[in-house]
Amino acid sequence: MRVIDAHVHLYPPEAGREPTAWAAARGEPHWAELCTRRRRDGRPVQTFPTVDELLRAMDADGVDRAVLLGWYWEQPATCVLQNTFYAECVRAHPDRLAAFATVQPAAGPAALAEVRRAVGEGLVGLGELSPHSQHVAVDDPVWGELLTLAGELNLPVNLHVTDPASRKFPGRVDTPLEDFVQLARAFPGTKFILAHWGGGPVYAEALKIFPNVHFDTAASPLMYEPGAAGQMLAALPAGRVLYGSDYPLVLYPKNEALPGFAGFLDELKAAGASAATLGGNAEREFAW
Ligand SMILES: [Zn+2]
Repeated sequence: MRVIDAHVHLYPPEAGREPTAWAAARGEPHWAELCTRRRRDGRPVQTFPTVDELLRAMDADGVDRAVLLGWYWEQPATCVLQNTFYAECVRAHPDRLAAFATVQPAAGPAALAEVRRAVGEGLVGLGELSPHSQHVAVDDPVWGELLTLAGELNLPVNLHVTDPASRKFPGRVDTPLEDFVQLARAFPGTKFILAHWGGGPVYAEALKIFPNVHFDTAASPLMYEPGAAGQMLAALPAGRVLYGSDYPLVLYPKNEALPGFAGFLDELKAAGASAATLGGNAEREFAW
């Protein structure tokens, strides 16, 4: 069985060294708010590993391949920077890494050109995107053109979804259910991967009727009680659930100081996750 983590984030080394200053200089306050958060005890919610640290963590915990997801950057220039960094990562480690591109629809036609450029550089999907965080309406014409292009080029589109029942935290952005229903309906030729169980049990129940909608498991241990994974796996179509961690978030802050994969993989296996969920579905969905 091959284990493929379909939801991993990495950032250019300069972002990891001084995240707050880097984000301020680039006009990315929302990223800074979310990614430099600290828990009440002062520990960071995530680290900023290098690509070599990621590969070592994957080796240690039995992850064969990681799909690197970008971020819903506010600035088009940051999207280009991230896509370029990811293209380098994938060129260096084509057997271990795949990567999705990010774009800011507000860039207009330049966003479409950036998707084509990134695909030419070897990127295989779009995401993690969030029109709600990128200040773009779901019926925005450029956003629509991007989703149509993604369908034509067979690029899966990973979207961030917030569970409305989850606890409020600084930087949390609401993502109404009807927006995802509208997108799934309006773009039947586009494969969507809705992150974080598609926004939890209520959203997932409403969205699983759409055959072009897939779900990932990212950050589940931080958001739900143990046991939730088993319920979600039982409720969702087995062919449309992808294991994703949201590394480098620390998923078990009570007993882990550094991010890793093993704890959540163990939790998913104990909850009955199939080989398809742990890697087979991802292997089928992405053009490697
Ligand atoms: Zn997310």
